[in-house]
Amino acid sequence: MTPDFSKYADGLIPVIIQDVDTLEVLMLGFMNEEAYNKTQAEGKVTFYSRSKQRLWTKGETSGNFLLVKEILLDCDQDTLLIKAVPQGPTCHTGDISCFGKANDTFSLQQLEKVIIDRKNNPLEKSYTASLFAKGINKIAQKVGEEAVEIVIEAKDNNKDLFLGEAADLMFHYLVLLQAKGFTLQDVIRVLESRHNK
Ligand code: AMP
Ligand code: ZN
Ligand code: ZN
Ligand code: ZN
Repeated sequence: MTPDFSKYADGLIPVIIQDVDTLEVLMLGFMNEEAYNKTQAEGKVTFYSRSKQRLWTKGETSGNFLLVKEILLDCDQDTLLIKAVPQGPTCHTGDISCFGKANDTFSLQQLEKVIIDRKNNPLEKSYTASLFAKGINKIAQKVGEEAVEIVIEAKDNNKDLFLGEAADLMFHYLVLLQAKGFTLQDVIRVLESRHNK
């Protein structure tokens, strides 16, 4: 399938750029057919810039290229979604996304990044860093304790206590994955391989 450039009088198709790993929406640009072909050929996002009135490879001066991982067409072939690996901040203001911090919503991946940071740069008063300092066996034991606590709260009807233990378990589980040198993505890959089987 190819985009239907004829849908627009100016032949420019809107293109949403999304970070393939964080799923953050990075920017919106436009492509004419030439820009689209160049993007496919080179694996780097090239737009047609309406202000520059020429092909514009994002990153051509800043070096912050967008490496194409996947190109998706919408249902009626008039909008593109490109999943990319940004080589640096996408916005010319230096922000990761042109939409600023607006879609900087909390996620497990974000929490995982903080946990990784605490592992690599232990802070004195960090509980997470103190867990890593105690080692894998202690962390695994802590996961076991939190698992028992959620079992206990599951039998009760206190919503806050149950959710609190659920959060404790998930946090310590993420720390254990890191202590073992794995990430949430490694687990997701296993789950994915089991999916639809
Ligand atoms: P770059 O493509 O990153 O080398 O930037 C070249 C020029 O394109 C900048 O000086 C800006 O004028 C413009 N520009 C860069 N990034 C963006 C963006 N995300 N949205 C709109 N214009 C941009
Ligand atoms: Zn559409
Ligand atoms: Zn911007
Ligand atoms: Zn607990």
